[in-house]
Formats: sequence, structure tokens, C-alpha cells
Amino acid sequence: AGRSFRPEGTVLHFPNGVTVGDKEVVVMAGPCSVESREQIFSAAEKVKAAGAKFLRGGAFKPRSSPYSFQGMGLEGLKLLREVGNSTGLLIISEVMEISQIELMMPYVDVFQVGARNMQNFNLLRELGQVRKPVLLKRGIAATIEELLLSAEYILSGGNYEVMLCERGIRTFETYTRNTMDISAIPVIKKLSHLPILGDPSHGVGLRDKVPAMARAAVAAGADGLLIEVHPNPDKAVSDGAQTLFPEQFSKLMQELRVIASAV
Ligand code: PEP
Ligand code: MN
Repeated sequence: AGRSFRPEGTVLHFPNGVTVGDKEVVVMAGPCSVESREQIFSAAEKVKAAGAKFLRGGAFKPRSSPYSFQGMGLEGLKLLREVGNSTGLLIISEVMEISQIELMMPYVDVFQVGARNMQNFNLLRELGQVRKPVLLKRGIAATIEELLLSAEYILSGGNYEVMLCERGIRTFETYTRNTMDISAIPVIKKLSHLPILGDPSHGVGLRDKVPAMARAAVAAGADGLLIEVHPNPDKAVSDGAQTLFPEQFSKLMQELRVIASAV
């Protein structure tokens, strides 16, 4: 994962001419969870209109409580693929265990590894064997070095299409859900050739602070962002409190264009 391996930086190429790690800041947006056909189609239409290139949506959800909504599973994956095909948006969704890799393969363009699985080394090793990009999120108590070592588990298996994601870490501060470590972005840019994205939604956990953290991540040099957007966040089954309304997202996208062109 070290910068010296590829000093010019890794660029990932996707269909429709989309790249990650090149000049353009790529935005992946959508609800925390896929909830219904109506919800995901509406979310897709709105994030696409605002300029997102990827649609995010969890079909398998790592919830703190086993009694919370756990995701739609295969049915959710099918909806994601369908809406991806009809809108041209690329699809990213979380893989929680090895047995889901094969199941998810036809439905997603990127496998997301969540914070809670950043050190699930068996899962990472298995993802090193697939030929599909992986977005690896930083663990809630993981150092930057541990994140890079986890990336090595995937890279050393032969899968070189890895993106990293800063999504906030747990600190003594309780006002925000997590503490978004903006400094991790320039540190990782220097240490590693891999693209680094910011997730301001989980990073701060409070809807009204998400735009500021998104702007900060881009100003700090992030290659892209992962942002939660829902057609009706107050009705969201997960992470509603940190999820943007479509209008907020579209305003943010305009602000990001100005910042990205200045970085
Ligand atoms: C998510 O992206 O919805 C998610 C569960 O993120 P994290 O793994 O960073 O908590
Ligand atoms: Mn979420």
C-alpha cells in the first residue's frame, strides 16, 4: 500500500468513464439501508441529478443491536442492480462475511468493507482473490497503520483495486457520534498510493454538520466521498439522524465543485 510502490498513485477505472484516484472528486451517495423499491429508486434519481456517480445502499447491515433492522439481503441487492442498470449509477454495498462475496458478485460494482470488519482478516484475504474493487473503511479504533496493513491483506492476494475510507474514529468526545479524523486524509495521501475517500455521515453522525465535514475532506485532498442521502431521512430505518435531505445534498455538491477546483 506504500506510496513508493506506485508514486503516481492508483487510479481505478469503472464503466461510463468514471475514475477514482484521478483528478475528479467522486461522490458515492444514497441511503444507509436499502428499504424498498420506491425508496431506492427515488434516492437514486435524486443523487444522480445532483452529480453522484455511485449509489450506496446497505443490503446487509452491521447493526449495534441484533434487534435493529438487519437489511433486505438478496432482495435489496437485486433492487440495487436494477436501479443501477436503469440509471447508469455504479453500485456499492457492504459485504459482511465470506459467504456473501459470491452472492453479491453479480449485483455490486464495489464491495464495501465496514469499519467493524476492517480487521476481519479472513474476509480481507478472500476479497484479495476477487476481481472487483473494494472500499475498505477505517475501524472505529484503528490507527492509520492498521488500516494500511488491512489493505495489504487484500492487495497481497492480487486484488489491486482498493480504496480507503476515513469514517470517523471513537475518541473521548461524545457530542459527535465519531470524531472525523480529517488529518488522516493528507497523512494517507502521503503514505499510500491508494485513493482515500471521506465519509462525513458516519464521521460526525449529525446531519447539520455533515456538509462542513464533507467540504473539509475535499479541501484536505480526499479523492471522493461516501455520503448518506435519503428521500425522507426522518423515516429512514437506519442512520436517519446523519442522513442528508436531497436538497441539502444537491447544495453541497455545488459547494464541493468550487472547493475541488481550488485544491
Ligand atoms: C455504512 O456505511 O452504512 C456503515 C455501516 O459504515 P461503517 O462501517 O463505517 O460504520
Ligand atoms: Mn450508515
